[in-house]
Amino acid sequence: MYDQDDVLCFANLAFRQVFGLTGDELVSWTELVRIARSKGAGTHVQTENFEQWLMSTKSRRGKQPFRAFETNLNDGRWLWMTETFDAEGWSISMAPDISRLQANDHRLMRLDRDIAIRTSTTDELTGCMNRRGILVELGKLVASSQAEAGFALALLDIDYFKQVNDTYGHPAGDAVLCHFVEHLHSRIRSKDLLGRYGGEEFLVIFPGCSNLDAVTILETIRQTIAPISLEGGEVSYNFSAGITNFKINETVDQMLKQADRALYAAKQEGRGRSCITKQTPS
Ligand code: GH3
Ligand code: MG
Ligand code: MG
Repeated sequence: MYDQDDVLCFANLAFRQVFGLTGDELVSWTELVRIARSKGAGTHVQTENFEQWLMSTKSRRGKQPFRAFETNLNDGRWLWMTETFDAEGWSISMAPDISRLQANDHRLMRLDRDIAIRTSTTDELTGCMNRRGILVELGKLVASSQAEAGFALALLDIDYFKQVNDTYGHPAGDAVLCHFVEHLHSRIRSKDLLGRYGGEEFLVIFPGCSNLDAVTILETIRQTIAPISLEGGEVSYNFSAGITNFKINETVDQMLKQADRALYAAKQEGRGRSCITKQTPS
């Protein structure tokens, strides 16, 4: 069982053994996965960039109230893992050992299918959701938000990004994109959703936020971006943002258009700032 900060508050002995916990330490989910990895225990993770995988997986965690999947452990066993999250973010996982059920090709096929689904919605460079992934999430929210608390949508665009590429080279530009995503993930709330919309443009969805709430979060993000060390020197960068809020009967395309208009205004007004969409008849 994990609390709303995703820190373990109870785990039985079998669970602790699977993840390589030796005492009764109560670690966060992220620390748990790191500990397991360092000991060659826990679930089998197939990745070339573990830290990015961890960030990406953490950003998806708890976004659905219930999930169930088969997972294989590094020791060869298989678990049927369930995750149930309540509205406050507390969660419980149950993981019966299903190794003795007859293993068959279907299990590996299902695992491959899960990996394929994840790959199709993940940005290969930065590890956040890709355009397809974030637009699916936006579509779900638009479809379900008619009577709900609503949400803010921000379109972010890195300022003068072409100059980074031109001055330091394309790989340095790639490093800035990864740096930005890492920073965003460390600062947005766990219920917020981040995806790469294209090039150096990102979408962030802030459930339950007004436009002004989103501005506040984005300004904290802006003020805390550290310069990145690249071959050739330290580089500081900034971004502009266009923010809009869901209105009843609005479509995904209309929301994107509104956010884009506000982003254009932010660029026109000098960049390095957030602008809120003006109420215009659509
Ligand atoms: P502005 O302040 O108006 O946003 O200026 P800008 O230079 O950021 O905008 P512009 O749209 O002219 O440049 C975006 C650049 O992003 C152009 C393109 O080469 C670069 N780009 C797009 N995708 C990638 C990528 O995956 N990696 C790198 N390194 N560059 C990329
Ligand atoms: Mg752009
Ligand atoms: Mg730009």
